[in-house]
Amino acid sequence: MSNTTYPPQVVIVGGGVIGSAIAYFLATHPKFGGHITVVERDPTYTQASSALSASSIRQQFSQPVNIAVSQFGIDFLRAIKQHLAVDGDVPDIGLTERGYLYLATEDGAATLRENHATQRAQGVDVALLNPAELQQRFPWLQVDDLALGSLGLSGEGWFDGYGLLMAFKQKARSLGVQYVKAEATGFVHSAGRVSAVALQGGAQLPCDWAVNAAGAWARPLLAGTGFDLPVHGRRRCVYAFASPAKTPGCPLVIDPAGLWFRPEGGIWICGLPPAPGEDANDVSLDVDYKLFDEAWLTLAHRVPGFEAVRLQRAWAGYYEYNTHDHNALLGPHPQLPNLLLANGFSGHGLQQSPAVGRGLAEWIAEGRYSSLDLSPLAAARLVEGRSLLEKNVI
Ligand SMILES: Cc1cc2nc3c(=O)[nH]c(=O)nc-3n(C[C@H](O)[C@H](O)[C@H](O)COP(=O)(O)OP(=O)(O)OC[C@H]3O[C@@H](n4cnc5c(N)ncnc54)[C@H](O)[C@@H]3O)c2cc1C
Repeated sequence: MSNTTYPPQVVIVGGGVIGSAIAYFLATHPKFGGHITVVERDPTYTQASSALSASSIRQQFSQPVNIAVSQFGIDFLRAIKQHLAVDGDVPDIGLTERGYLYLATEDGAATLRENHATQRAQGVDVALLNPAELQQRFPWLQVDDLALGSLGLSGEGWFDGYGLLMAFKQKARSLGVQYVKAEATGFVHSAGRVSAVALQGGAQLPCDWAVNAAGAWARPLLAGTGFDLPVHGRRRCVYAFASPAKTPGCPLVIDPAGLWFRPEGGIWICGLPPAPGEDANDVSLDVDYKLFDEAWLTLAHRVPGFEAVRLQRAWAGYYEYNTHDHNALLGPHPQLPNLLLANGFSGHGLQQSPAVGRGLAEWIAEGRYSSLDLSPLAAARLVEGRSLLEKNVI
């Protein structure tokens, strides 16, 4: 840790699940004895993705690094009561372990097989099912147009994402992390190093390390650093609906049409991305109700019982969308090595928060990723002309 004062000061911008996970892991790192401040402008998290998510975790990625990240993620979530209890106050994130089921027509079957080979090589507990096997396991599913399904047999499911954020935050605070309610406006830097985080109103928080964990709002914060982060807020709506249908053992189903649905309490939630030409950057978070009409057509096709559905409520949040290659952008800013980025999760940041928190804490405390190499996700790939394309984006 050259050029740093002792004890080192770390300022994290953004107190969502990513900023809070980094704060927690750093505060517990045996080689870190410094001070950690988290700057969060909205402690009610009204627009934060961490509070508006579908909060699910899967192992079925196409990139080995994402699989390894989720393998640590599920282990961490299973043991959350040990990790994040504070003075006997034990967090309960309601982890429900149930698989993701990716469905493919003839067109998508080869990709599913390719991903399956990658996943099996990484030890993922996943099975390919033909239409007859799908029908046998899920009699309520319409399989006539399907060629293949890929079902996670363990290590996948869903949980309370806001609960996870709160658990990280409360634990971090109990370990001495300070949360400050303020809006950051940028990073003060000279001679290739960041020296402070600038706040609205003119104050500055001096630091040895700064972290940009500002979710869908990360890009404008870097405007003064000469680096155009290709991350935008892309609106994603979630629709909660009731139906007389019965779907016993329902996993999180991803239809070839792009729609996903899963059970939630006694009802279901679903979502689908807008058509590519309509997926605009940084639009308002008003719910797109027209999209539910489209969703319903697919729902009713895939599960005949869903011909009768009643929309109960809906909400919208941002995917902090990396338009370059839909994967996290982590680690040092290409020109400012003591400014770390934790951005661009493109719809999988909640499940990635444990591994990202641990990794960036190691980077600060040890100068390297010591437990899991996150370097394939380095933000530097943008300036080195590399891509790490994730095929399995929902
Ligand atoms: C509809 C939907 C479904 C999703 N489903 C899943 C899923 O199933 N599984 C999964 O893993 N992920 C999912 N995600 C993605 C996941 O929710 C996000 O990747 C994750 O929450 C990102 O966390 P974050 O801390 O980076 O961002 P956020 O939670 O948005 O936190 C960023 C924080 O930074 C603060 N901030 C921003 N700018 C400033 C500033 N200038 N000064 C001070 N504070 C600032 C904001 O107020 C905010 O609280 C989903 C997202 C959405 C919207």
